[in-house]
Amino acid sequence: MNALVLVAAGSGTRMGTDLPKQFIKLKGKPLLMHSLERFLEFDPGIKVVLVLPPDGNRYFAPLRKSFPILDEVCSISGGVSRTASVKRGLSLVPDEALVGIHDAVRPLVTPETISRAYHAAEKEGGAIPVIAMEDSVRRLKAEGSKVVDRSVLRRVQTPQVFRASLIKEAYRRIEGEEYSDDGTVYETCFTPPVLVEGSRSNIKVTTPEDLLLAEFLLSRQ
Ligand code: C5P
Repeated sequence: MNALVLVAAGSGTRMGTDLPKQFIKLKGKPLLMHSLERFLEFDPGIKVVLVLPPDGNRYFAPLRKSFPILDEVCSISGGVSRTASVKRGLSLVPDEALVGIHDAVRPLVTPETISRAYHAAEKEGGAIPVIAMEDSVRRLKAEGSKVVDRSVLRRVQTPQVFRASLIKEAYRRIEGEEYSDDGTVYETCFTPPVLVEGSRSNIKVTTPEDLLLAEFLLSRQ
C-alpha cells in the first residue's frame, strides 16, 4: 500500500504574505493541490495524510468544497517545526505502507521522480531524490572561505520515501531533535537511504521569485 504525508503546516514567512504559501493559487489551484494531484496520478488509491497549520481549517474548509477529492484525505494539524509536523502525519500512516513524505510547496514534482523514489524505497527501505549542483560552492571559515568540490555534493528534494515502520521508528528515536529532511532522520537508525535522480523543475516554492518561476513552469505543462 502506498501512502503520502503531505506537509503543509508551515507559515511561509519568507514569502511575505499573510496566506501561507501552500495555499497560494497558481493556475486557479493552491500549490498543495498541484502537489497532491501529482501523487494521485502516480497511484489513484494512495492513502493521503495532509498536515495543516493549527488554523488551517480556515483555508482548508473552502477548498474541500472546490475539490471533492479532499473528502478522501485525512488531515491533522502540524507542529512548530517540519520535524514535528512529519511526526504527527506519520502517526496516521499504517506500519505496512510505503510512505512518501513531500513538501506541499513542491508543486512541480515529476511523475518520474515520484515513481523512482517509491520503487527504490520498496526494494531498499528508504530513497531520496537528489540533483547535481550547478553553482560553485564555498564553505565559510573563521579566516575567510574555501571552495568545496561540487562534484561530490547533491541537492536533496522530496518526496523522500520509506517503509513506514522504519521511518516511524527513526522519528520515535530522535524525539526532541530537529532535522530539515527525513532521509537524515532515517539514517540516524538505518543505512543511508539510496539516492535517485530528482528533477530541476521540482523547486521548493519559498520566495516570491520562486512563485513566478513555478507559475511559468506550470503554464508550460
Ligand atoms: O520551512 P520549509 O521550507 O522547510 O518547509 C517545507 C515544508 O514543510 C512546507 O511544505 C511546509 O508547509 C512544511 N512545514 C510543516 N510544518 C512546519 C514547518 C514547515 O508542515 N512547522
